[in-house]
Amino acid sequence: MVLQQLGGSITRALQQMSNATIIDEKVLNECLNEITRALLQSDVQFKLVRDMQNNIKKIVNLDHLAAGHNKRNIIHKAIFNELCKILDPGKPAFAPKKGKPSVVMFVGLQGSGKTTTCTKYAFYHQKKGWKPALVCADTFRAGAFDQLKQNATKAKIPFYGSYMESDPVKIAVEGVERFKKENCDLIIVDTSGRHKQEAALFEEMRQVSEAMKPDLVIFVMDSSIGQAAFDQAQAFKQSVAVGAVIITKMDGHAKGGGALSAVAATKSPVIFIGTGEHMDEFEIFDVKPFVSRLLG
Ligand code: GDP
Repeated sequence: MVLQQLGGSITRALQQMSNATIIDEKVLNECLNEITRALLQSDVQFKLVRDMQNNIKKIVNLDHLAAGHNKRNIIHKAIFNELCKILDPGKPAFAPKKGKPSVVMFVGLQGSGKTTTCTKYAFYHQKKGWKPALVCADTFRAGAFDQLKQNATKAKIPFYGSYMESDPVKIAVEGVERFKKENCDLIIVDTSGRHKQEAALFEEMRQVSEAMKPDLVIFVMDSSIGQAAFDQAQAFKQSVAVGAVIITKMDGHAKGGGALSAVAATKSPVIFIGTGEHMDEFEIFDVKPFVSRLLG
């Protein structure tokens, strides 16, 4: 279910409820069930939806609402607040400082849009006057270095990688050292992906992270992976210290629920979303406008 559809379903459920002459527990339950269905179809994780439903019931205590209160508004506000709460882990992501060298490591499955997002992130900061650099520590996928090189060249961003070296740890460490010497203030390290979650991938991420000690690890997730979002995000979080999330492919048939699951699983905020294949199709993520759009 795309974002607008989810918003539409929730708005409809609330409208139906306010059309009822008396809003009693049965009407409220029907409305909440309708909203639950919409959230599940939008790939919000089952447990999150169930907890949210229970919280709303606690907040919206029909017996305690004085006559004349607009119950629809109260419920709408409760849903809004609950969704914001899920998306706000309460701790901001590490914020690199311009002029001070920071190392940012990107992790995520192959095809998630990781390499594209590394360049978008570098390009975004470059436009704001930073000196970014890109390191390709993906020695697993043939063609990974060429892809990063092509993107970096297009954006005029310095890059580092190797066609010969097979040890990702060595490349990551060398690349970071080189760009620190060159006074780059944002050293972005792209890592290997692989198709499936597998032990070897997580072990590699752990080793790369341990060797170069990144200031921030960003988990990149494809918004269309559905209910798998929570487990995937959690698996990465268990091997490296994920500190922020970027959700890609929010254009087209993007679903909103994955974002909620990724935050819940990593306890880290979403910082950007990818909205297309081009370098500038990249937006800062803001919780309240996102939830407003979600609710229509
Ligand atoms: P990686 O294997 O994780 O490094 O993924 P890539 O960066 O190679 O991206 C995989 C595919 O997704 C490419 O065709 C990208 O152009 C595409 N892609 C990445 N981000 C987005 C996005 O935000 N929107 C859309 N529509 N496509 C994207």
